[in-house]
Amino acid sequence: MKITRQKGTKDIFLDEMNVWQYIEENIRNLCDEYNLNEIRTPVFESTELFLRGVGNETDIVNKEMYTFLDKGNRSITLRPELTAGVVRAYIENGMSSLISPIKFWYNANMYRYEKMQKGRYREFSQFGVEIFGSKSYKADLEAIIISSNFLDRIGLKGEYTLSINSIGCKKCREKYINKLKSYIKPNLSSMCDDCKKRYDKNPLRVLDCKVETCQEILKDAPMILDNLCDDCKNSFNKVINSLEKLNINYKIDKKIVRGLDYYNGIVYEYTSDDLGLAIGGGGRYDTLVENLGGASTPAVGFGMGLNRVVLLLEDMKEKLKSYVDVYFLITNDEGYIKSLDVIKMLRENGYKIEQDLSEKSFRAQLKYADKIKARYVIILGEDEIKNNKCILRNMENGSQKEICFNFDEIVDNI
Ligand code: AMP
Repeated sequence: MKITRQKGTKDIFLDEMNVWQYIEENIRNLCDEYNLNEIRTPVFESTELFLRGVGNETDIVNKEMYTFLDKGNRSITLRPELTAGVVRAYIENGMSSLISPIKFWYNANMYRYEKMQKGRYREFSQFGVEIFGSKSYKADLEAIIISSNFLDRIGLKGEYTLSINSIGCKKCREKYINKLKSYIKPNLSSMCDDCKKRYDKNPLRVLDCKVETCQEILKDAPMILDNLCDDCKNSFNKVINSLEKLNINYKIDKKIVRGLDYYNGIVYEYTSDDLGLAIGGGGRYDTLVENLGGASTPAVGFGMGLNRVVLLLEDMKEKLKSYVDVYFLITNDEGYIKSLDVIKMLRENGYKIEQDLSEKSFRAQLKYADKIKARYVIILGEDEIKNNKCILRNMENGSQKEICFNFDEIVDNI
Protein backbone atom coordinates (compact mmCIF):
# COMPACT_ATOMS: atom_id res chain seq x y z
CA MET A 1 0.00 0.00 0.00
CA LYS A 2 1.17 3.49 -0.84
CA ILE A 3 2.19 5.52 2.18
CA THR A 4 0.79 9.04 1.98
CA ARG A 5 1.38 12.16 4.02
CA GLN A 6 -0.88 12.80 6.99
CA LYS A 7 -4.03 14.87 6.63
CA GLY A 8 -3.36 18.56 7.09
CA THR A 9 0.38 18.33 6.36
CA LYS A 10 2.28 19.50 3.31
CA ASP A 11 5.45 18.74 1.40
CA ILE A 12 7.20 21.91 0.37
CA PHE A 13 9.64 21.89 -2.55
CA LEU A 14 10.84 23.64 -5.73
CA ASP A 15 8.80 26.78 -6.63
CA GLU A 16 6.90 26.94 -3.34
CA MET A 17 10.15 26.48 -1.42
CA ASN A 18 11.51 29.60 -3.10
CA VAL A 19 8.60 31.58 -1.66
CA TRP A 20 9.20 30.17 1.82
CA GLN A 21 12.89 31.02 1.62
CA TYR A 22 12.09 34.51 0.40
CA ILE A 23 9.79 35.02 3.42
CA GLU A 24 12.31 33.53 5.82
CA GLU A 25 15.08 35.79 4.52
CA ASN A 26 12.85 38.82 5.00
CA ILE A 27 12.01 37.71 8.54
CA ARG A 28 15.68 37.33 9.39
CA ASN A 29 16.61 40.76 8.00
CA LEU A 30 13.65 42.48 9.62
CA CYS A 31 14.26 40.96 13.04
CA ASP A 32 17.91 41.87 12.82
CA GLU A 33 17.00 45.51 12.17
CA TYR A 34 14.93 45.54 15.38
CA ASN A 35 17.66 43.67 17.26
CA LEU A 36 15.33 40.81 18.14
CA ASN A 37 16.87 37.53 19.30
CA GLU A 38 15.87 34.28 17.71
CA ILE A 39 14.53 31.66 20.09
CA ARG A 40 13.93 27.96 19.43
CA THR A 41 11.99 25.90 21.91
CA PRO A 42 10.98 22.22 21.82
CA VAL A 43 8.21 20.99 19.54
CA PHE A 44 6.67 19.08 22.44
CA GLU A 45 5.98 20.37 25.91
CA SER A 46 4.12 19.13 28.95
CA THR A 47 0.36 19.30 28.33
CA GLU A 48 -0.03 21.25 31.57
CA LEU A 49 1.78 24.21 29.97
CA PHE A 50 -1.00 24.74 27.45
CA LEU A 51 -3.81 23.97 29.88
CA ARG A 52 -2.52 26.69 32.16
CA GLY A 53 -1.05 28.96 29.52
CA VAL A 54 -3.51 29.04 26.65
CA GLY A 55 -6.55 28.26 28.82
CA ASN A 56 -8.60 25.11 29.01
CA GLU A 57 -11.75 26.80 27.77
CA THR A 58 -10.24 27.70 24.41
CA ASP A 59 -10.91 25.74 21.22
CA ILE A 60 -7.21 25.19 20.78
CA VAL A 61 -6.86 23.38 24.10
CA ASN A 62 -10.29 21.79 24.17
CA LYS A 63 -10.51 20.43 20.68
CA GLU A 64 -7.30 20.80 18.74
CA MET A 65 -4.28 19.59 20.66
CA TYR A 66 -2.11 16.66 19.68
CA THR A 67 -1.78 15.13 23.12
CA PHE A 68 -0.40 11.71 24.00
CA LEU A 69 1.23 9.79 26.81
CA ASP A 70 4.92 9.10 26.26
CA LYS A 71 6.60 5.87 27.32
CA GLY A 72 7.19 7.33 30.78
CA ASN A 73 3.46 7.99 31.11
CA ARG A 74 3.92 11.75 30.87
CA SER A 75 1.21 13.75 29.12
CA ILE A 76 2.89 15.46 26.19
CA THR A 77 1.48 17.93 23.66
CA LEU A 78 2.84 19.06 20.31
CA ARG A 79 2.87 22.84 20.62
CA PRO A 80 -0.36 24.35 19.22
CA GLU A 81 1.16 27.83 19.56
CA LEU A 82 4.45 29.19 20.79
CA THR A 83 3.86 31.98 23.26
CA ALA A 84 3.34 29.57 26.15
CA GLY A 85 6.58 27.73 25.26
CA VAL A 86 8.57 30.95 25.04
CA VAL A 87 7.18 32.08 28.39
CA ARG A 88 8.13 28.73 29.90
CA ALA A 89 11.65 29.15 28.52
CA TYR A 90 11.79 32.74 29.78
CA ILE A 91 10.94 31.63 33.31
CA GLU A 92 12.95 28.41 33.36
CA ASN A 93 16.13 30.09 32.12
CA GLY A 94 15.89 33.05 34.50
CA MET A 95 15.74 35.51 31.62
CA SER A 96 14.20 38.26 33.74
CA SER A 97 17.66 38.86 35.18
CA LEU A 98 19.37 39.17 31.77
CA ILE A 99 18.14 42.29 29.98
CA SER A 100 14.81 44.04 30.08
CA PRO A 101 12.96 44.36 27.85
CA ILE A 102 14.12 41.16 26.22
CA LYS A 103 12.86 40.62 22.69
CA PHE A 104 12.52 37.34 20.83
CA TRP A 105 11.42 36.12 17.44
CA TYR A 106 10.70 32.65 16.16
CA ASN A 107 9.65 30.93 12.99
CA ALA A 108 8.40 27.48 13.82
CA ASN A 109 5.84 24.77 13.15
CA MET A 110 2.73 24.39 15.27
CA TYR A 111 0.25 21.54 15.46
CA ARG A 112 -3.52 21.76 15.75
CA TYR A 113 -6.01 19.02 15.04
CA GLU A 114 -8.31 21.19 12.92
CA LYS A 115 -10.91 20.64 10.22
CA MET A 116 -9.02 21.17 7.04
CA GLN A 117 -9.79 23.79 4.43
CA LYS A 118 -7.76 26.09 2.22
CA GLY A 119 -5.27 27.84 4.48
CA ARG A 120 -6.04 25.63 7.45
CA TYR A 121 -3.61 22.83 8.18
CA ARG A 122 -2.74 20.55 11.05
CA GLU A 123 0.92 21.43 10.79
CA PHE A 124 1.57 25.08 10.03
CA SER A 125 4.24 27.72 10.58
CA GLN A 126 4.12 30.94 12.46
CA PHE A 127 6.55 33.82 12.52
CA GLY A 128 6.17 35.40 15.93
CA VAL A 129 7.68 38.01 18.20
CA GLU A 130 7.50 38.19 22.00
CA ILE A 131 8.71 41.19 24.02
CA PHE A 132 9.02 40.78 27.79
CA GLY A 133 9.38 43.52 30.38
CA SER A 134 7.60 46.61 29.09
CA LYS A 135 4.28 48.01 30.27
CA SER A 136 4.52 50.91 27.86
CA TYR A 137 2.29 51.37 24.81
CA LYS A 138 5.59 51.63 22.92
CA ALA A 139 6.04 47.87 23.16
CA ASP A 140 2.52 47.30 21.78
CA LEU A 141 3.28 49.74 19.00
CA GLU A 142 6.65 48.15 18.23
CA ALA A 143 5.00 44.75 17.80
CA ILE A 144 2.39 46.22 15.47
CA ILE A 145 5.04 48.07 13.47
CA ILE A 146 7.13 44.91 13.09
CA SER A 147 4.19 42.77 12.01
CA SER A 148 2.77 45.28 9.53
CA ASN A 149 6.25 46.05 8.25
CA PHE A 150 6.74 42.34 7.65
CA LEU A 151 3.60 42.07 5.52
CA ASP A 152 4.43 45.25 3.57
CA ARG A 153 7.97 44.22 2.94
CA ILE A 154 7.16 40.84 1.47
CA GLY A 155 4.78 42.49 -0.96
CA LEU A 156 1.36 42.44 0.73
CA LYS A 157 0.95 46.19 1.30
CA GLY A 158 -2.69 47.10 0.79
CA GLU A 159 -3.79 43.47 0.76
CA TYR A 160 -4.62 43.04 4.41
CA THR A 161 -6.68 44.72 7.11
CA LEU A 162 -5.32 45.43 10.55
CA SER A 163 -8.17 45.43 13.09
CA ILE A 164 -7.43 46.59 16.58
CA ASN A 165 -9.21 46.65 19.92
CA SER A 166 -8.46 46.76 23.63
CA ILE A 167 -9.87 44.18 26.01
CA GLY A 168 -8.72 46.14 29.05
CA CYS A 169 -6.84 45.17 32.16
CA LYS A 170 -8.08 43.01 35.00
CA LYS A 171 -9.61 46.01 36.70
CA CYS A 172 -11.74 47.36 33.86
CA ARG A 173 -12.49 43.94 32.42
CA GLU A 174 -14.06 42.64 35.62
CA LYS A 175 -16.46 45.57 35.74
CA TYR A 176 -17.22 45.24 32.07
CA ILE A 177 -17.90 41.51 32.24
CA ASN A 178 -20.59 42.08 34.85
CA LYS A 179 -22.19 44.60 32.51
CA LEU A 180 -21.95 42.21 29.57
CA LYS A 181 -23.42 39.34 31.54
CA SER A 182 -26.38 41.42 32.67
CA TYR A 183 -26.98 42.35 29.03
CA ILE A 184 -26.77 38.74 27.83
CA LYS A 185 -28.66 37.06 30.65
CA PRO A 186 -32.26 37.65 29.45
CA ASN A 187 -31.35 36.19 26.03
CA LEU A 188 -28.99 33.45 27.11
CA SER A 189 -31.44 30.63 26.39
CA SER A 190 -31.56 31.67 22.70
CA MET A 191 -27.80 31.62 22.29
CA CYS A 192 -25.72 28.75 20.90
CA ASP A 193 -24.42 26.00 23.20
CA ASP A 194 -20.87 27.31 22.99
CA CYS A 195 -21.98 30.77 24.11
CA LYS A 196 -23.95 29.27 27.00
CA LYS A 197 -20.71 27.69 28.21
CA ARG A 198 -18.72 30.84 27.55
CA TYR A 199 -21.20 32.88 29.58
CA ASP A 200 -19.91 31.26 32.76
CA LYS A 201 -16.34 30.48 31.86
CA ASN A 202 -15.14 33.17 29.47
CA PRO A 203 -17.92 35.66 28.67
CA LEU A 204 -15.67 37.88 26.55
CA ARG A 205 -15.42 35.16 23.92
CA VAL A 206 -19.16 35.45 23.33
CA LEU A 207 -18.38 38.61 21.38
CA ASP A 208 -16.60 36.86 18.53
CA CYS A 209 -19.14 34.04 18.18
CA LYS A 210 -19.86 33.52 14.49
CA VAL A 211 -23.42 32.20 14.95
CA GLU A 212 -25.94 34.63 13.45
CA THR A 213 -28.55 34.47 16.21
CA CYS A 214 -25.85 35.20 18.79
CA GLN A 215 -24.59 38.12 16.72
CA GLU A 216 -28.12 39.47 16.49
CA ILE A 217 -28.52 39.29 20.27
CA LEU A 218 -25.17 41.01 20.76
CA LYS A 219 -26.00 43.87 18.38
CA ASP A 220 -26.48 46.40 21.16
CA ALA A 221 -24.23 44.78 23.73
CA PRO A 222 -21.89 47.05 25.69
CA MET A 223 -18.36 46.91 24.28
CA ILE A 224 -15.20 46.65 26.34
CA LEU A 225 -13.54 49.43 24.32
CA ASP A 226 -16.19 51.84 25.60
CA ASN A 227 -15.65 50.65 29.17
CA LEU A 228 -11.88 50.94 29.61
CA CYS A 229 -10.20 52.46 32.65
CA ASP A 230 -8.16 55.62 32.08
CA ASP A 231 -4.81 53.82 31.80
CA CYS A 232 -6.09 51.36 29.21
CA LYS A 233 -7.84 54.11 27.28
CA ASN A 234 -4.66 56.20 27.25
CA SER A 235 -2.50 53.37 25.95
CA PHE A 236 -5.03 52.56 23.26
CA ASN A 237 -5.27 56.18 22.14
CA LYS A 238 -1.50 56.58 22.06
CA VAL A 239 -1.14 53.52 19.85
CA ILE A 240 -3.92 54.69 17.55
CA ASN A 241 -2.42 58.17 17.26
CA SER A 242 0.97 56.70 16.45
CA LEU A 243 -0.51 54.45 13.76
CA GLU A 244 -2.08 57.54 12.20
CA LYS A 245 1.25 59.36 12.22
CA LEU A 246 2.99 56.36 10.69
CA ASN A 247 0.34 55.99 8.01
CA ILE A 248 -0.35 52.43 9.09
CA ASN A 249 -3.92 51.65 8.02
CA TYR A 250 -6.09 50.16 10.73
CA LYS A 251 -9.69 49.63 11.63
CA ILE A 252 -11.07 49.63 15.17
CA ASP A 253 -13.03 46.42 15.71
CA LYS A 254 -14.64 46.36 19.13
CA LYS A 255 -15.44 42.68 18.83
CA ILE A 256 -11.91 41.37 18.57
CA VAL A 257 -11.09 39.36 21.70
CA ARG A 258 -8.64 36.74 20.26
CA GLY A 259 -8.99 33.01 20.71
CA LEU A 260 -6.42 32.55 23.46
CA ASP A 261 -7.17 33.31 27.08
CA TYR A 262 -3.95 35.03 28.03
CA TYR A 263 -4.51 38.39 26.37
CA ASN A 264 -5.29 41.73 27.99
CA GLY A 265 -5.06 45.34 26.83
CA ILE A 266 -4.43 46.00 23.15
CA VAL A 267 -5.23 43.10 20.80
CA TYR A 268 -5.25 43.00 16.99
CA GLU A 269 -5.71 40.80 14.01
CA TYR A 270 -4.56 40.89 10.42
CA THR A 271 -7.00 39.49 7.90
CA SER A 272 -6.80 38.93 4.19
CA ASP A 273 -9.95 39.73 2.20
CA ASP A 274 -8.63 37.53 -0.55
CA LEU A 275 -8.48 34.46 1.65
CA GLY A 276 -11.27 35.49 3.99
CA LEU A 277 -9.01 34.34 6.82
CA ALA A 278 -6.87 35.77 9.59
CA ILE A 279 -3.22 35.90 8.62
CA GLY A 280 -1.97 36.94 12.02
CA GLY A 281 -2.76 38.36 15.37
CA GLY A 282 -1.31 39.48 18.61
CA GLY A 283 -1.63 41.54 21.72
CA ARG A 284 -0.58 42.12 25.28
CA TYR A 285 -0.41 39.33 27.87
CA ASP A 286 0.68 40.85 31.16
CA THR A 287 -0.41 37.99 33.42
CA LEU A 288 0.87 34.93 31.55
CA VAL A 289 4.40 34.89 32.99
CA GLU A 290 3.00 35.04 36.49
CA ASN A 291 0.31 32.44 35.75
CA LEU A 292 3.01 30.06 34.62
CA GLY A 293 5.02 30.53 37.80
CA GLY A 294 7.32 33.45 36.99
CA ALA A 295 7.55 36.92 38.47
CA SER A 296 4.91 39.36 37.29
CA THR A 297 6.19 40.52 33.86
CA PRO A 298 4.34 42.58 31.27
CA ALA A 299 4.63 41.23 27.74
CA VAL A 300 3.39 41.66 24.18
CA GLY A 301 3.60 39.49 21.10
CA PHE A 302 2.16 38.46 17.77
CA GLY A 303 2.07 35.44 15.50
CA MET A 304 1.75 35.50 11.70
CA GLY A 305 0.54 32.39 9.90
CA LEU A 306 3.08 31.82 7.16
CA ASN A 307 1.16 29.15 5.22
CA ARG A 308 -1.55 31.69 4.55
CA VAL A 309 1.02 34.33 3.63
CA VAL A 310 2.52 31.88 1.14
CA LEU A 311 -0.93 31.39 -0.44
CA LEU A 312 -1.14 35.15 -0.90
CA LEU A 313 2.26 35.23 -2.58
CA GLU A 314 1.32 32.72 -5.29
CA ASP A 315 2.36 35.25 -7.97
CA MET A 316 5.87 35.33 -6.57
CA LYS A 317 6.58 31.76 -7.56
CA GLU A 318 7.45 32.70 -11.12
CA LYS A 319 9.48 35.76 -10.10
CA LEU A 320 11.48 33.85 -7.53
CA LYS A 321 12.43 30.97 -9.80
CA SER A 322 16.07 30.34 -9.13
CA TYR A 323 18.68 30.45 -11.85
CA VAL A 324 22.15 29.04 -12.24
CA ASP A 325 25.08 31.26 -13.23
CA VAL A 326 27.01 28.70 -15.25
CA TYR A 327 26.34 25.16 -16.37
CA PHE A 328 29.48 23.22 -17.32
CA LEU A 329 28.68 21.06 -20.35
CA ILE A 330 31.29 18.31 -20.44
CA THR A 331 30.95 14.85 -21.90
CA ASN A 332 34.30 13.22 -21.10
CA ASP A 333 36.15 12.33 -17.91
CA GLU A 334 39.27 14.37 -18.74
CA GLY A 335 37.23 17.57 -19.07
CA TYR A 336 35.25 16.72 -15.99
CA ILE A 337 38.36 16.34 -13.82
CA LYS A 338 39.96 19.46 -15.35
CA SER A 339 36.87 21.53 -14.56
CA LEU A 340 36.57 20.62 -10.88
CA ASP A 341 39.09 23.17 -9.56
CA VAL A 342 37.66 26.04 -11.57
CA ILE A 343 34.13 25.10 -10.52
CA LYS A 344 35.18 25.00 -6.88
CA MET A 345 36.74 28.48 -7.13
CA LEU A 346 33.68 29.89 -8.84
CA ARG A 347 31.40 28.46 -6.17
CA GLU A 348 33.63 29.83 -3.44
CA ASN A 349 33.27 33.24 -5.07
CA GLY A 350 29.51 33.15 -4.90
CA TYR A 351 28.63 31.80 -8.33
CA LYS A 352 25.97 29.15 -8.64
CA ILE A 353 27.32 26.34 -10.77
CA GLU A 354 26.02 23.02 -12.01
CA GLN A 355 27.64 20.25 -13.99
CA ASP A 356 26.49 16.90 -15.34
CA LEU A 357 26.15 14.17 -12.75
CA SER A 358 24.49 11.47 -14.82
CA GLU A 359 26.52 10.96 -18.03
CA LYS A 360 24.00 12.82 -20.21
CA SER A 361 24.62 13.40 -23.92
CA PHE A 362 25.59 16.84 -25.26
CA ARG A 363 22.03 17.60 -26.38
CA ALA A 364 20.44 16.35 -23.17
CA GLN A 365 22.83 18.52 -21.14
CA LEU A 366 21.96 21.62 -23.17
CA LYS A 367 18.28 20.93 -22.59
CA TYR A 368 18.92 20.45 -18.88
CA ALA A 369 20.87 23.75 -18.71
CA ASP A 370 17.89 25.48 -20.27
CA LYS A 371 15.47 23.91 -17.79
CA ILE A 372 17.46 24.96 -14.75
CA LYS A 373 17.67 28.49 -16.18
CA ALA A 374 21.45 28.59 -16.58
CA ARG A 375 22.54 32.07 -17.67
CA TYR A 376 25.70 30.72 -19.29
CA VAL A 377 26.93 27.34 -20.45
CA ILE A 378 30.63 26.54 -20.65
CA ILE A 379 31.39 23.82 -23.18
CA LEU A 380 34.56 21.89 -22.71
CA GLY A 381 35.05 19.53 -25.66
CA GLU A 382 38.16 17.57 -26.63
CA ASP A 383 39.66 20.37 -28.79
CA GLU A 384 39.06 22.94 -26.08
CA ILE A 385 40.73 20.76 -23.47
CA LYS A 386 43.83 20.43 -25.64
CA ASN A 387 44.09 24.22 -26.19
CA ASN A 388 43.11 25.15 -22.66
CA LYS A 389 40.09 26.97 -24.03
CA CYS A 390 36.34 26.66 -23.66
CA ILE A 391 33.23 27.90 -25.40
CA LEU A 392 31.06 30.29 -23.46
CA ARG A 393 27.42 30.28 -24.55
CA ASN A 394 25.08 33.03 -23.46
CA MET A 395 21.78 31.24 -22.91
CA GLU A 396 19.68 34.38 -23.11
CA ASN A 397 20.64 35.29 -26.68
CA GLY A 398 22.35 32.11 -27.87
CA SER A 399 25.65 33.87 -28.75
CA GLN A 400 28.90 31.93 -28.28
CA LYS A 401 32.57 32.80 -28.02
CA GLU A 402 35.82 31.05 -27.26
CA ILE A 403 37.65 32.10 -24.12
CA CYS A 404 40.62 30.77 -22.10
CA PHE A 405 39.65 28.13 -19.59
CA ASN A 406 40.61 29.75 -16.29
CA PHE A 407 38.84 31.38 -13.37
CA ASP A 408 39.72 35.02 -14.21
CA GLU A 409 38.73 34.79 -17.85
CA ILE A 410 35.42 33.13 -17.00
CA VAL A 411 34.58 35.69 -14.32
CA ASP A 412 35.45 38.55 -16.71
CA ASN A 413 32.98 37.20 -19.24
CA ILE A 414 29.93 36.32 -17.18
P1 AMP B 1 -3.50 32.15 16.56
O1 AMP B 1 -2.32 31.58 17.28
O2 AMP B 1 -4.70 31.24 16.58
O3 AMP B 1 -3.82 33.55 16.91
O4 AMP B 1 -3.09 32.17 15.01
C1 AMP B 1 -2.18 33.10 14.48
C2 AMP B 1 -2.13 32.89 13.00
O5 AMP B 1 -1.66 31.58 12.70
C3 AMP B 1 -3.50 32.95 12.34
O6 AMP B 1 -3.86 34.26 12.04
C4 AMP B 1 -3.27 32.14 11.09
O7 AMP B 1 -2.66 32.91 10.08
C5 AMP B 1 -2.27 31.09 11.54
N1 AMP B 1 -2.97 29.82 11.82
C6 AMP B 1 -3.64 29.46 12.92
N2 AMP B 1 -4.12 28.21 12.80
C7 AMP B 1 -3.75 27.77 11.58
C8 AMP B 1 -3.94 26.55 10.85
N3 AMP B 1 -4.60 25.53 11.36
N4 AMP B 1 -3.41 26.46 9.60
C9 AMP B 1 -2.72 27.49 9.06
N5 AMP B 1 -2.52 28.65 9.70
C10 AMP B 1 -3.02 28.80 10.93
